[in-house]
Amino acid sequence: MSTLVFTDPRFLDHHPGPGHAESPARLDAIMAEIGRAPLAGVTIETPRAATDTEIEAAHSPAYRSKLAQLDGQYAELDPDTGVSPGSWKAARLAAGAAVGSVEAVMAGRADNAFALVRPPGHHARPGRAMGFCLLNNAAIAAEAARRDGAERVLIVDWDVHHGNGTQEIFQAREDVLYMSVHQFPFYPGTGAAGEVGVGAGRGATVNCPLPGGQTDADYGVVFHDLFLPVGRAFAPDLIIVSAGFDAHARDPLAEMRVTERGFAAMGSALHELAASTCGGKLVLLLEGGYDLPALAASVRASLEVLTGRREDFPRGAGTAAIDAVLSTRAALRGAGRIVSQT
Ligand SMILES: [Zn+2]
Repeated sequence: MSTLVFTDPRFLDHHPGPGHAESPARLDAIMAEIGRAPLAGVTIETPRAATDTEIEAAHSPAYRSKLAQLDGQYAELDPDTGVSPGSWKAARLAAGAAVGSVEAVMAGRADNAFALVRPPGHHARPGRAMGFCLLNNAAIAAEAARRDGAERVLIVDWDVHHGNGTQEIFQAREDVLYMSVHQFPFYPGTGAAGEVGVGAGRGATVNCPLPGGQTDADYGVVFHDLFLPVGRAFAPDLIIVSAGFDAHARDPLAEMRVTERGFAAMGSALHELAASTCGGKLVLLLEGGYDLPALAASVRASLEVLTGRREDFPRGAGTAAIDAVLSTRAALRGAGRIVSQT
């Protein structure tokens, strides 16, 4: 087994504002945890910056050039998305780390990879920054995978917030299937079960909105009864995960009750899905996660899964998660996608 981690101290040069939850301390906490007890089989690499062409596969040229013009400056792009002089460089490196992860895994240079980056990406829309995100790292990575020969790319988003930007970029596409489990109703407001994609992409967007308070066991139902059967039927050539850790029980921004074991079980389920569909090709990208010890421990648990740990979900799911899965399956059936029973 070989696992690549892409990270860079220049990610710490992005300062979204004083007291902001998405602080450089997040990555400091993660790297301190990894340094405390390095994991066998993990190699850390420095990413390159994403090219203009790679960025413009997911974003408008006008938006990319607007961000480039803000290089070296402080600015507010959105009520909760600010940039500092180092932000553009950090954002291009974050997207480049996502692309580099895909390239390494697609070329067989690594079994899997984890891009430990900031700023995060899944709220970034084609033409605007949003929700702490400047460039949509997952979308840029998925487009890079398509370029590198992947015919079908599966994006799984377990961040507690819906990845509205990623959904918007791929909602009319059938070659990139986007699946999200998230707290709802909640920021950013999108991600209802009835959002199943548009046009040729109908049935290739899968949203499982959940009320707050859901546990590891509840997430287990979402994965076993929805994500895994949909993923197997889609038969991806690569799986990309928008791996946010703000569904953690200790996270200050949301109300879920997931633990490190739950994140390990989600990673393990996708590791097995990748092994059975695409030779194990799996790329994790860091999104949110705002309780520093919980974030660091959850990233470690995910890395353990990438290097071979297997974890199961506990039993005991509640009715809210079971009902949510049934609603999403009904919405997908209406869009012509039959989800097989596990
Ligand atoms: Zn989030």
